[in-house]
Amino acid sequence: MSERDLLMIPGPIELEPTVLEALGRKTLSHLDPNFIETFGKLLEQLREVFGAPDCTPMVVAGGGTLAMEIAAANVIDSSDNVLVYNTGYFSDRMARIAERLGARVDHVRGALGEAPSLDALDASLAAKRYKAVTMTHVDTSTGVLAPVRQIAARAKKAGCLTIVDAVCSAGGEELHQASWQIDVALAASQKALGAPPGLAIALFSAAALEARKAKKVAPASLYLDIEEWLPILAAYEARKPSYFSTPPVNLISALATSTELLLAEGMSARVARHRWLSHAFRAAWQALGLASFSVDPAATAHTLSALCYPAGVDASLVTAIRDEGVVVAGGLHPDAKTKYFRVGHMGSTRPGDVLTTVGALERALARVGYLGFERGTGLTAADKVLGGQLPHA
Ligand SMILES: *Cc1c(COP(=O)(O)O)cnc(C)c1O
Repeated sequence: MSERDLLMIPGPIELEPTVLEALGRKTLSHLDPNFIETFGKLLEQLREVFGAPDCTPMVVAGGGTLAMEIAAANVIDSSDNVLVYNTGYFSDRMARIAERLGARVDHVRGALGEAPSLDALDASLAAKRYKAVTMTHVDTSTGVLAPVRQIAARAKKAGCLTIVDAVCSAGGEELHQASWQIDVALAASQKALGAPPGLAIALFSAAALEARKAKKVAPASLYLDIEEWLPILAAYEARKPSYFSTPPVNLISALATSTELLLAEGMSARVARHRWLSHAFRAAWQALGLASFSVDPAATAHTLSALCYPAGVDASLVTAIRDEGVVVAGGLHPDAKTKYFRVGHMGSTRPGDVLTTVGALERALARVGYLGFERGTGLTAADKVLGGQLPHA
């Protein structure tokens, strides 16, 4: 294991050097004018990243799971009906969070590795009145990309609030919170947003803030309550000092550096780059005879690949790839954990990383005795896509 090994898991990811630099700078007071400027600007930039000009972004120390709790705790009351459009492990987690809040949870499910049909969603929405519909934009356990725009449109039509777990999509997949009618979009710093782990992010629409105000009981956790944070967030945006709980100064600076890079690249160019690199990977997987765990290519993520082990190959492949200098992840969904592995390709990923990863995979496959491919075919297939034009969004 060397620090030069390439980190290709679905978060945390390889960081841009300037993002890392921000982490190592002197820790300023959370009331320092320079930090206030950084945090204030970050909040403004998050609105751009999420396509959410009128939403209220909340950023606190914590993981993506905390962001899920923040979203749920602020709009869901005990005994509310909640519908989960379920695409895997993280959809199940959202259901558990809603259940902890006392909600009655139903699921719309498809087969594992498939997005549930919109007809099934329509049937559920017609059968019962739901307070909220939750969905996972990219479920990192299956690689399924949910049709968020269509789901949210149907949910809003049925009078529901919409909650989108965008932890593995924000900054990599097309996402427009406002025009897609998303009430709470939630994310974390360590995936396609390109910063170290440690920050939970949630953006609330006006309807979501109203739902919080209308709650019968305030969230049990003070730290998670958007109402507690509203004056603080407003103060930072007005570039004024304020305090509720000490923000993780260096992490905030690192994320602010990353969002600046994101916006300099441009959101649509960034989404196009993720598509392009993922298509190079897909060409390689196909050439090597590896099947995607996510069944429908049109409903498959561009931020990671979930790949079935070919016949005769098991999880020792992950170790063999690591021995070749690339770190990938094993399976995550409890029903199929040992049957597939995952390659993250988001944020700072560049064409050279695709070739490094495919090369390591080829050598590892040969080492574990897989004979279903000819050496070099994966690399050639990926390189062919990389040599083509960058596709338009
Ligand atoms: C990673 C991830 C989470 C959880 O984030 P943590 O920071 O590990 O708590 C939630 N949802 C999705 C879709 C994720 O990919």
